Formats: sequence, structure tokens, C-alpha cells
Amino acid sequence: MRLEQLLLYNFRNIERTELHPHHLFNIFYGDNAQGKTNLLESISLLGSLKSFRLSRNDELIKNNESYSEIKGETEKNGVKHQIKLRIDKENKQAWLDGKRINRPEAYLDCLRPVVFAPEEVNLIKGPPSGRRRLLDRAVFQTDNKYLADVQKYDRQLKQRNRLLKEKRPENELAPWTDELAKTGAAIRHARSRYIEKILPQVKDCYLHICGQQEQVNLFCKADTKDISELEQNLLDEFERQKEQEKRYGVTLSGPHRDDIDFLLNQRPLKSYGSQGQQRSFILAFKVAQALHLKEVYGEPPLLLFDDLTGELDRHRQNLFFEFLLSLKAQVFITTTEVQPLLDGGIRDGYFIRVEQGVFTTTVSDEV
Ligand code: ATP
Ligand code: MG
Repeated sequence: MRLEQLLLYNFRNIERTELHPHHLFNIFYGDNAQGKTNLLESISLLGSLKSFRLSRNDELIKNNESYSEIKGETEKNGVKHQIKLRIDKENKQAWLDGKRINRPEAYLDCLRPVVFAPEEVNLIKGPPSGRRRLLDRAVFQTDNKYLADVQKYDRQLKQRNRLLKEKRPENELAPWTDELAKTGAAIRHARSRYIEKILPQVKDCYLHICGQQEQVNLFCKADTKDISELEQNLLDEFERQKEQEKRYGVTLSGPHRDDIDFLLNQRPLKSYGSQGQQRSFILAFKVAQALHLKEVYGEPPLLLFDDLTGELDRHRQNLFFEFLLSLKAQVFITTTEVQPLLDGGIRDGYFIRVEQGVFTTTVSDEV
């Protein structure tokens, strides 16, 4: 999957720009607050219809303007598409090959960007919801049914919580309990199968960045692979919590409460791992996600790394660059310093200087 052309209009501090990205590396460099992350955010939005910054629409539109537009020409397995996203204050609208989309699947198939943003390290340290989001976003990328299941679960959960809050009788609650257990089991099943698939690659990539001494692991709640057993387990959990649920008026267990364990040398990464180790783990997770997408779609997805080199020592950086080079994916990186990338062997690509929302493309010899 490749982005061959990118056109931006009134996106954050970028008034108008046209880029023809390199098929391998695209390094956006410059001082702070120039528009490097803004550019990366535009690609992530265009490709996934979601920003990694959780921004409001009006923040995405250049100050004092009424709308913003991001357009791209993409290429996947030899087929080209035109995609376009228009953002105004109230909503976002997307087009695929000139037609407004009403279902996003075909549109999302064009780029499937995998984003690494430094803020994600906070997800490792923060509450379980962040870790669930990290995993869920990865599962959504390869499993359309998963998204539907998660949406269904949210609706069922709301309904069941409403009945619990209103202290409705057991016979009214029971059908919702059964439905929630069914959907919840499908979610736990999909999460654990996904982890099972990518775990060898997460471990492998982490070893590449960090050497042999450190071992990582990932777990999520799913005591069995059998989906009907998972359903029964959930029903048992609801039964055990019955009295407490009535008291608090909410559903107290299920995939909406599960944590994802990120382990380093068998200990919790959030309390045991250093900042650099946490960052390395997320990088390894993202690369494994990309390798898995490559397996599923036959081509690697776009990789977007915001502020890649911060907090990784030179040794880890170089090992990671080596790994990135072997992927042969289209990669977009933002950085304030290009020298570490050049030292790490990243030369085959464009080096794009960013100054106050204006982009100047050069090659490595000219940096
Ligand atoms: P750093 O190296 O610090 O991460 P950066 O180059 O990645 O910097 P960005 O986050 O891309 O910086 O851009 C920040 C700039 O964009 C800031 O100057 C900010 O004021 C400006 N900006 C953000 N939103 C808008 C907007 N809607 N309209 C105009 N300018 C905006
Ligand atoms: Mg930035």
C-alpha cells in the first residue's frame, strides 16, 4: 500500500501543499511547531478516518478558515485509487474515486496506516482503557466483523446498565445478560486470537531493538479458545457479581473492563519498564501489526512514526532502523534531527524540510 500523491488544503498550519512521497522513506524534519506532526496527522486521518491526536474538527481546520481538505492518490497491488476527506466544523465526509462513501470498508482498504505516536507510551502506564484501545485499533485493521461486534457490545452494555440502574426484575435483565455474554465472548476470542498471531513478531522485533537480555509478553483475558466456553465464563462472571451489579447499577465485568497485560521479563511493563523500554515495546507492537497486515493484504501498510528517535538510545535506534529497512514499506517519519537517521543507514528516500507549514523536498545528499 502506497501513498503516491498528497494534497492538503487549510489543514492546521498548512495552507496548501502537494507532495509526491517516496515509495520507501519520507523524513519530515525541522524545528518544533513547524507542522511535521500535522502532516503525519493528515495522512493518518486520510487513511483511517481517525486522528491519533483525538482532535476536534475545528482544530483540524486552519485558523479563520471554514473547511479543510485532504486528498490522496493511493496504490495497492497495482490498483490506484483517489481518496478525499473534507472536514468542516460539523462533520467529515469521505470520497473514494469521486463517490461519497456510505460504508467505509473499501475506502479503509486503500492505506491502512499504522501509526506510532509518542503519546502512546502513556497508554502503557495509564488505565486499562488505553491498552484496550491500542489492541482494539489493531484488531479493527484486519477484522471488519470485530468492529461490528464492538459496536454491538457497546449498545447491549448501555441497555443492560440502564436496566440495572432502574432496578428492573431479573426476567427483563436475563435476555440482555445472555446477549452480552455472546458478544463479549466473540470480542475476547478475537482479541486473544490476534495476540496469538502477532506475539511471535512482537517478540522478534523487540529482540531486534533491544538485544537478547529482555523478553516481552502480551496477555489478554481469555482462558480458552473455545468460544462457547468463553461465553459460559462470562455468564459465570455476571452471576458471581450479581449482587454488586445490582448495588452499583453497572455491569462490572466483561471485555469493557478487561486489561491487556504488557509484560517485560515476566513483570508489568507499566511499573517495571523504563521509558525507553516502554517505547521499544510499543514500536515492536506496531511493527508486528504492520507485518501481520502485510500477511493479510499481501503488501505492507503505510507506517507513520511521529518523533521516532526521542527516548531511544543510539544503539536501539540503529537496530530499529535496520529492521525498518528490511520491511520495504512506505514509511513517514518526523524528527527534529536527521543525522541519527542518516547514521542508521536511512538514505533511500526524501528528506522534507518543514518550516511554518511549508514543505521543501530534498534527498539525503542535500540535507
Ligand atoms: P514538534 O517538533 O514540537 O513536535 P511539529 O513540527 O510536529 O513540532 P506540529 O504539531 O505539526 O509541530 O505543528 C504545530 C503548529 O501548528 C503550532 O504552531 C500550532 O499552533 C499550529 N496549529 C495547530 N492547529 C492549527 C490550526 N487549526 N490552524 C493554524 N495553526 C495550527
Ligand atoms: Mg511533532
